[in-house]
Amino acid sequence: MSSYLIDAIEAAANVTVRSSHEVVAGRGTSRLEMVTVRDRTTGVEEDLRADGLILMIGAQPRTDWLPESVGRDRFGFVRAGADAAASALWTLDRAPQPYETTVPGLFSVGDVRCGSVKRVASAVGEGSVVVSQLHQHLSPHDV
Ligand SMILES: Cc1cc2nc3c(=O)[nH]c(=O)nc-3n(C[C@H](O)[C@H](O)[C@H](O)COP(=O)(O)OP(=O)(O)OC[C@H]3O[C@@H](n4cnc5c(N)ncnc54)[C@H](O)[C@@H]3O)c2cc1C
Repeated sequence: MSSYLIDAIEAAANVTVRSSHEVVAGRGTSRLEMVTVRDRTTGVEEDLRADGLILMIGAQPRTDWLPESVGRDRFGFVRAGADAAASALWTLDRAPQPYETTVPGLFSVGDVRCGSVKRVASAVGEGSVVVSQLHQHLSPHDV
């Protein structure tokens, strides 16, 4: 989550943050009325009245299935461009292209890329920009 959103939540008097808790159940007759939250550290569960439930998912890169040769930062985001060049995994004499990973010819764009802006417009933009890099890689002059 962006730090400005975290700051806004922490500053809101009518918001209580329960870290290390997870929602484990929901109940209601015709709509959601109650959720059960579990404290992950103690295992204690508590029922809370709830009119709605908003999920925030999708912020973790989930790249652990990639081979070791695809360099990633400590959070799992894929190194590309200058970040790939700075990695010991990059072994070619030429510099990687801006979205090229530590594996020559393998490119990474969007949220999964280390250092990306994490916005829809930038992900779409990177996707369009990388096409020319693919063409350059596939040209007969590339190594
Ligand atoms: C809660 C939340 C709120 C956000 N709000 C905004 C906002 O208001 N404005 C904004 O601009 N951006 C927002 N973003 C960011 C925006 O959603 C992302 O920047 C954008 O979706 C990135 O696009 P992407 O194509 O790189 O990745 P994604 O949209 O995440 O697409 C990746 C796709 O790859 C699929 N995938 C993953 N692993 C595999 C696999 N192994 N094999 C096959 N497919 C796979 C996934 O299922 C997914 O469909 C928000 C993100 C989150 C999580």
